[in-house]
Amino acid sequence: MTSARSRRRLHIRLAAIILTSALIVATLGFLANLMSGAFGSMTDAANQIDDTRAISATNGALQAMQKQLGATVRDNAYWDDAFNKINAIGGADWAVENWGTTTADYPLYDTALVIEADSKPLVAYHAGTSLAAPFDFYDGSFKDILAAAHRPDPNRNHLPVTFIRTKEGVAIIGAAAIQPSAMDPKADPATYKVLVFSKQMTTAVLADLARNFNIKGLAMSEAVDEALLHAEIKDINGKDIAHFTWPSERPGTKSYDRVRSTVISAAVILLALLGAIAVTGLAALRGARYEERVSNHRATHDALTDLWNRAGLLDQLESALETAGATTVSLHILDLDGFKPVNDAWGHAVGDELIKAVADRLVRQLPAHAVIARLGGDEFAVISNRSPLTGFSSVVPDCIQQTLSTPFVIGDRTIEIGGSVGTSISGPGALDSGELLRQADLALYRAKGLGRGISVNFDPSLDEEASKTAELEQELRQGLTRGELHVAFQPLIDAASREVSGVEALARWTSPSRGNVPPDVFITVAEKAGLIDQLGFQILETAVSEGANWPDIGIAVNISPLQLKNPYFVGQVEGILRSREFDPTRLTIEVTEGVLISNPEQAKRAFEALRKLGVKIALDDFGCGYAGIGALREFGFDRMKIDRSLVVALDHDDKEGAVLQATVALANALHLPVTAEGIETEEQATAARLSGCDKLQGYLFSRPISAKEITARYFTPNPNPLSRTG
Ligand code: C2E
Ligand code: CA
Ligand code: CA
Repeated sequence: MTSARSRRRLHIRLAAIILTSALIVATLGFLANLMSGAFGSMTDAANQIDDTRAISATNGALQAMQKQLGATVRDNAYWDDAFNKINAIGGADWAVENWGTTTADYPLYDTALVIEADSKPLVAYHAGTSLAAPFDFYDGSFKDILAAAHRPDPNRNHLPVTFIRTKEGVAIIGAAAIQPSAMDPKADPATYKVLVFSKQMTTAVLADLARNFNIKGLAMSEAVDEALLHAEIKDINGKDIAHFTWPSERPGTKSYDRVRSTVISAAVILLALLGAIAVTGLAALRGARYEERVSNHRATHDALTDLWNRAGLLDQLESALETAGATTVSLHILDLDGFKPVNDAWGHAVGDELIKAVADRLVRQLPAHAVIARLGGDEFAVISNRSPLTGFSSVVPDCIQQTLSTPFVIGDRTIEIGGSVGTSISGPGALDSGELLRQADLALYRAKGLGRGISVNFDPSLDEEASKTAELEQELRQGLTRGELHVAFQPLIDAASREVSGVEALARWTSPSRGNVPPDVFITVAEKAGLIDQLGFQILETAVSEGANWPDIGIAVNISPLQLKNPYFVGQVEGILRSREFDPTRLTIEVTEGVLISNPEQAKRAFEALRKLGVKIALDDFGCGYAGIGALREFGFDRMKIDRSLVVALDHDDKEGAVLQATVALANALHLPVTAEGIETEEQATAARLSGCDKLQGYLFSRPISAKEITARYFTPNPNPLSRTG
């Protein structure tokens, strides 16, 4: 589920990155479009503006040239001196001297003519020398110029100044009738001589023009090159005789070209930025993927063994069931036998090493298709998926048992450990993962109950049993609240005097529906259902309050190892003793050696606290388990109770008699007084007494009886209380 969530988160992240990138690309595209459009129109506009400027500059230059020439012609023609001299004798000489010779190097004109009214040239000079046939030098429009010069012009401001084709190319030309500076209104201008100046449009002239008017690449040509800008050069009749041409400056293009590098750099930077975003996005994505893988792995794997963990197993089980098709899926749960003592005796580091070693062996020795998980603690699970033809049910459990049959070597320790295996099998599409787990658990529970190293396959009878247990559990729960539990007391007899020295409180449950339920059964149910604290408290309370009615004898109460795990246990005992004003030294707590194995530290602390109160601790059922002398000494028991099996054995075997004797001798050597349980015969009583047991308990003296019966039998005035047996 966590992996699904993190996958969803990843997809959202991915979508965000893609969306952001797409947005950035779209925005960039839009901007680029916008910019190129803007630059394009800016460039065009700038170019157009400059072209217009250049054309009007060129036209302005032409006009300026015309104006200048016009002014020069006017200054020279409307001049009294000139009028008088030119119309007097020697006028031609005067004209040559004043105008003709200056054509050699005068910047404003290179040709000067004086044409008489009848169109005969009086003086004609070109480039400092006489020009033989001026009418041949100019083209036909020359006549029109002369005619225009002769035309009456009352304000004298319409001089013909224009362009003309000459033998040398194109020239600018201006003409005016030579007349007095003050206009004579009666005079006919047609009778005047005409002064003509012209200037050839040489390359030098063009260069000057280009420089002065800032027109780069100015040239003159007859034809028009469409790629170039141009201005028409017209003659007096408005006919195109040539063109000024020059290339467009295209300043917009130039500045665009200049800007373009900046724009390109900006675009490159943007692209790089986008690339960086993409790269970081991808890196983030890869990082996120890697993180996802790691966190997925962590979420589904056991940190110690790197096997699947419970969540991982469930995932695997579900997909195995989904894809099973015609095959069966079996689930095996393995619980190590005797792992806890290893952990307790050698510490968790050794325990962890052992778990790892078991995991390694499982991985190496189980079939390759098996999915192996550690469910926690010393519990493992294996999923195997086999076709019904190949058969499977016994393969994996056998393999597991075999795997564990060789002892493990951890450091310098050799550890033998077994395993119980519960197996559940799902036919094609039959069970879901939860049910499969439940069945395997039940089978495992049964396997554990049967002893060490046993494998059990689930069968429906286990279910019936389980549901019976569940029912029983429910009834016990109710019974505890309805006061169905009570306490029987069995006398503890002094071996020498045969007088009652105490009683053992034994829990009894009479269920309305089931009748008497054996304590071995309901105590186990209470332990499993978490009812043992409540039950133990009730029994202790009853035992103490009944015991308070009896003078001085000891009261022994059985305590489940689980009760010692309850941190409030000692406090509760103390509370009960105080509220009943019961002498703590009269109370003995009986514990089985299971407590030494399952939770030794907690047990030790509880014992110390109880002993501080004055309560005694007895080790129950000694002789059937593993508690060694070390443990006996370490826990400082006040008494040992020898298991009934050792007493029973007295009847059959001398050897067992020897075991009993040795056991009691051992306890006595540790200054532990010993009680013999299950004494049913006088022989047993004698043997036990002779072996060194100072207290005896058993049907020979009394069965467990009610408090009332204890009072009646032992503590009411009676001439012979011990003569009766239960
Ligand atoms: P236990 O502590 O060893 O108790 C002694 C058991 O031996 C009692 O069985 C008693 O009835 C039985 N017994 C006594 N004398 C003889 C005899 O001469 N012959 C035979 N065959 N049996 C004899 P009971 O009452 O069925 O109790 C069984 C076990 O249930 C107890 O064994 C004890 O471990 C547990 N138990 C009983 N009451 C409590 C309790 O209040 N709390 C806890 N935690 N466990 C209890
Ligand atoms: Ca007992
Ligand atoms: Ca016992």
